Amino acid sequence: MEKPERLIDENGRRVDGRKFDELRPVKMEIGVLDKSDGSAYVEFGGTKVIAAVFGPREAHPRHLALPDRAILNCRYHMTSFSVEERKPLGMTRREIELSKVIREALETVTFLEEFPRASIDVYIEVIQADGGTRTTGLTAASLALADAGIPMADLVAAVAVGKVDGQLVLDLCDIEDKYGEADMPVAMAPRFNSIVLLQLNGRMTPEEFRKGLALAQKGISEIYRLQREALKKKFSSVPPMES
Ligand code: ADP
Repeated sequence: MEKPERLIDENGRRVDGRKFDELRPVKMEIGVLDKSDGSAYVEFGGTKVIAAVFGPREAHPRHLALPDRAILNCRYHMTSFSVEERKPLGMTRREIELSKVIREALETVTFLEEFPRASIDVYIEVIQADGGTRTTGLTAASLALADAGIPMADLVAAVAVGKVDGQLVLDLCDIEDKYGEADMPVAMAPRFNSIVLLQLNGRMTPEEFRKGLALAQKGISEIYRLQREALKKKFSSVPPMES
């Protein structure tokens, strides 16, 4: 992918025509898989992610089970067809790191102590990558956990903000992530206004950081609204009675 001459045009529009504080078109669907206990599909523009949850179920191997809480296993994985250049098979260092930070974010909201000796397994598959896969993955994973009926204090909603051509922008796409000056993924449990993941790649001044965080919060409240809407859509319809 070549670097465009400018990432923001003279009208303040971004490479895909968005304003600085605009999310990409978002789609969310709950319960998309039959074999898992919970699942969700989430799309932010060209980034498409599916999350599946199994459990709570007996932890295996048994010696890993904890006497006072469930273990939360989390695997973030990019399919080999999710990027233009074929991604190496197997887990890369990046995927191992992202699995860890996503797990830590989800652990803050999940009532693991309700399921001693059990495991809850979260699988995140990136089907297509166009920036913001960790944030889309987290957003999808928390929906899949809710779909599986795992008790949680709140959902996790996430988005990246960044700096491109000196301007703070919401929800970076790949080209902005690659050629921008900074990229800051943020995930929150919005009900408590608490940050459960925050990373920063690149440089921002303290003032830009504060403004960036406020921009992320604005995006997150919209994502949170869409998450609740998607959950209501699935659970407000009553299945037909069996005769
Ligand atoms: P995130 O997807 O959370 O923004 P990164 O900042 O590490 O995480 O990656 C930014 C983007 O770079 C990804 O969304 C994807 O579009 C692209 N990318 C990541 N890994 C690869 C890879 N192995 N090959 C090609 N593109 C990649």
